[in-house]
Amino acid sequence: MSGHTFDKPNVDHCPFMPVFGPPALSIERGSGTQVWDTDGKRYLDFLSGIAVTSLGHANPVVAEAIGRQASTLLHVSNFFSNPQAMAAAIKVNELLKDATGHSGQLFFTNSGAESNECALKLARKWGGRGRHTVVSAFGSFHGRTLATLAATGQPAKHEPFAPMPEGFKHVAWGDIDEIRDSVDGSVAAVMIEAIQGEGGVNPAPVGYLQGIRELCDEMGALMIIDEIQTGFGRTGKWFGFELDGVSPDVVTMAKAMGNGMPIGACWARKDVAAVFQPGDHGSTYSGTALATAAVSAVIDEMRRIDAPRLATEMGAKFTDLLIQLPQIESVRGAGLILGAQLAEGLNAPEIYQALIGKGLICNAVNASTLRFLPPLTVSETELVEATAMIAEVLQEVSS
Ligand SMILES: *Cc1c(COP(=O)(O)O)cnc(C)c1O
Repeated sequence: MSGHTFDKPNVDHCPFMPVFGPPALSIERGSGTQVWDTDGKRYLDFLSGIAVTSLGHANPVVAEAIGRQASTLLHVSNFFSNPQAMAAAIKVNELLKDATGHSGQLFFTNSGAESNECALKLARKWGGRGRHTVVSAFGSFHGRTLATLAATGQPAKHEPFAPMPEGFKHVAWGDIDEIRDSVDGSVAAVMIEAIQGEGGVNPAPVGYLQGIRELCDEMGALMIIDEIQTGFGRTGKWFGFELDGVSPDVVTMAKAMGNGMPIGACWARKDVAAVFQPGDHGSTYSGTALATAAVSAVIDEMRRIDAPRLATEMGAKFTDLLIQLPQIESVRGAGLILGAQLAEGLNAPEIYQALIGKGLICNAVNASTLRFLPPLTVSETELVEATAMIAEVLQEVSS
């Protein structure tokens, strides 16, 4: 396996802070679903940089847009606008208008956590003092900055950084009664994922998001949906909340939005966005021409190939293939965000390691679940090839 020079994160020659553990591979180049490491070994990438490269590696349409923009204009500060940012914002607003039925406005960020920070600040300004609490679910993941970490429903991740910023409350995932008991007049917003990604690929139970929508309407709280992992066609819909037919007030996104170019956005219904005034929020790189050129290329290309339909079709095919393996008990998720529940006694991290040896990249999202997030452009042949590698590894570990 390559990457030997990095395999001890704490030794003197490693230039990275030791927050990620030893990298499994050092990857040099990619094309579509495939990547090659520094030793020239080929892998099928069924993780897509955690739902980022949804149009595949080195996508020619996105690469062309980035290349052209890089030699035209990169950045101009927020005292000015640029045609790329305007065009990309209009395209994202069109998608959200179709999905929610509301006109809205957005703020471009550089990451998922920043998109959620923007949403949290918007909720606090909208709610006002005394009504600033944000309710989110246990098992959720909303980011690594202090406020988004506080919203993240994983107490073990808070513990080393206590005290957390105040004004966050967590409820059991999927339990509408518990969330009903928690949302009172002090709550500005509920922040929720359509499918918990990092939490183990846990889809919202049918009617859960609808129930939260009704509750937010009753209590005058905002409904914020974190679509950072599920957005841009991944679930078979443009946005995961469409699976439950709800219309949120605020939607956060990133990951697949730039196909690898770091960019995100916080979108809000127009009357909600209107609580922000000049000076309330900002970022040097918000809406930079380079990143927004990538966003337009991604959306145009996803529309052209009907990426949500591909996710639905390929997701159904992959599920059918996986479920035939005797060591896989069930497959959950939607479209091409899938979690394969392993039979009792099998260890997902161990299987993940063995799959890397075979040439398949996926992720052990917990001790008993493998998570698959292939590009939405994955071919049927690649699904079959990946399934054969999984079958071999599961056979080897069970015998
Ligand atoms: C990845 C992710 C984030 C954080 O995004 P970053 O770009 O890593 O800051 C937030 N929410 C969800 C649901 C995610 O999957």
